[in-house]
Formats: sequence, structure tokens, C-alpha cells
Amino acid sequence: MREFKNSKVEIIPIIVPDHTSLKSINYYLVKYDHELILVDAGLNNNDSLHALEHTLQCNDLSIHDLTAIILTHHHIDHVGLVNHIASLTPIPVYVHSESIPRLKRDDSFLQMRIEFFSTLYEQMGCGHTGRKQVNYLQQAVKKNKELAIHANLQVIDEKNKLFGFEIFEVPGHAPDQIALFDRTSNWLISGDLLINHISSNALVEPDQSGKQMHTLIDHMNSLHNCLSLPIKLVFPGHGVLIEKPMELIQKRLQGIEEKAERILLLIQEGISTGSELAQTYYKNKYDTQFSLVMSEIIGHLDYLEAKGRIHKDMKKGIWHYTA
Ligand SMILES: [Zn+2]
Repeated sequence: MREFKNSKVEIIPIIVPDHTSLKSINYYLVKYDHELILVDAGLNNNDSLHALEHTLQCNDLSIHDLTAIILTHHHIDHVGLVNHIASLTPIPVYVHSESIPRLKRDDSFLQMRIEFFSTLYEQMGCGHTGRKQVNYLQQAVKKNKELAIHANLQVIDEKNKLFGFEIFEVPGHAPDQIALFDRTSNWLISGDLLINHISSNALVEPDQSGKQMHTLIDHMNSLHNCLSLPIKLVFPGHGVLIEKPMELIQKRLQGIEEKAERILLLIQEGISTGSELAQTYYKNKYDTQFSLVMSEIIGHLDYLEAKGRIHKDMKKGIWHYTA
């Protein structure tokens, strides 16, 4: 295995193969000074746990040697082992402030989030399919209560370095996403900002006051901001390490522009609601991957609207877009 070690930090990748399109679930052991930090914590399953234990063992370490956890964002494939580790050793878990209600599965926050999607999908014209998704979200809140994170959560202050890393907010894929930059070797631990084999979804989310965030625009800004850093190697949340990050960032930004143009064409042809655009563009994925597909469509509509390429009017509670 390749070594990633400089005078300040050592990064030890833990790569757990995954049979979905993600290809692998990645998280990272970081040695810094006398600290042993886990950046992200895999899925809550035996594969993730065994991979962590195995990597620790190979380095003559154990879970009890960990001194901190940092989470790049709150998604379940990044926080899986936190409760298990916290039950063995009460170490601090550093997170973005936007992570807190999401990790704790705060009931009033989750109810607000359901209300948000209910209104959003109605306004996008999703009708029955939207209501089905809202129903699914309601069931998930009940079912996933036990996934709430019980740990010593510490809010990250982006102005300060954390264990030698500069911390950058990189919202878009998730509103609480952060990236960790090591300036000695120009390494970036990126969460799901950049993945080599797939473009990361900018999932639509409300902010803590229930207002829709423009997550695709946030994602593009996050990618743009990375272009001004001299990044040499990216340690992503999934897939292989990224050796030519600048080229990939340009490709991803280009991909978004091209998709926006294709959606604009459909609007010019007279397709006017979010739901109709999603069904025309994504065909049967509208039913099988509804929330992902709607995030993509809404994100690109936000972007086209922000550029002044389209505008929207509300008719009978549904937004209609025109070029
Ligand atoms: Zn992920």
C-alpha cells in the first residue's frame, strides 16, 4: 500500500469495497503529532468495522488509541461507526454546525424538513409521486430514530486549523460538508465534493429556518473555490484517490453547464414544470430515484434562474418555468 506521510501528518486510507455505484466507502486514519484521528466513520456494518480494526491492527493500534473523529458531513455512509466508537472511548467528534440537528435527528428539525419537501414537491408539480416520497420520509423518521448519533459533538471553527489541517466549508452535496487541506503536501480530504467515477449529487435541502438552499450553486462555488488551492491529491469519500483534481473539477463544472443547457432546451420546447422536466429528462428514473432526480432538476433550474436564463410564474400553486 502506498504511504501518504510528510513531516506533519500521515494519512492512512481505509477503503471498503461497496457493490453500489459508489464502488467503495472510504475513510481515513490520520496521525498528527500525538493524535490519532479518524476522518469519517464508514457505514454502520461489520465490513466497515472490520476494515477499521484491521487497519488499526496493521499499524499496531487499537480503537482505544483514537483521540478524535472528524466528520466531513452527516450522511449515513460517513458516520456509521461513530456510536460504536463513542461507546468504547468518549473522544470528541468534530462537525460543522449544520451537522448537529441532522446527526442528532432532532425531531422538530426533521418535521420542518418534511414540511419543506411537501411544499417543494407540490410546487414542482409532482402530485402523487411527491406525496409518496413525503410519506416515505415520514416513515424514515420513525424507522431511523435509533441511528441518532450519541457522541461528544464539537462544532468546528473554520477559522482555526484542526490537527494541522485547514478546514474549508464545501457545501452542495450536503449543507454541512467540509474539506480538510494539508498545505505541507497539498492533500485534500474532500468528503463527497469530488468523486473520480461519478458526479456527486447536490441534494436539495432546507436550511435551519426551512428555506431552500441553492445546493447546486453552492456545489459549483465549492468546486470553484478548490481551483484556487494548489491541490495535488484528493482523498475522496468514495472510489479511487484523485491524482489530477484540477482536471476533474473542470470536467464536473463543464458537465453541470452542459446539463443546464439541455434542460434549458426542454424549457424552450415548452416543458414548464419541474415534474415534467424530470420525467422527460430522466424517464423511468423519475419513479425509481425520485428524490435524486428532483434534486438534479431543481438544482439546475435554480442555476438557470440565477443566470437570468429562465424565469418562473406560479399558477395554481405550481411553478411554471419559461425561457
Ligand atoms: Zn458518501
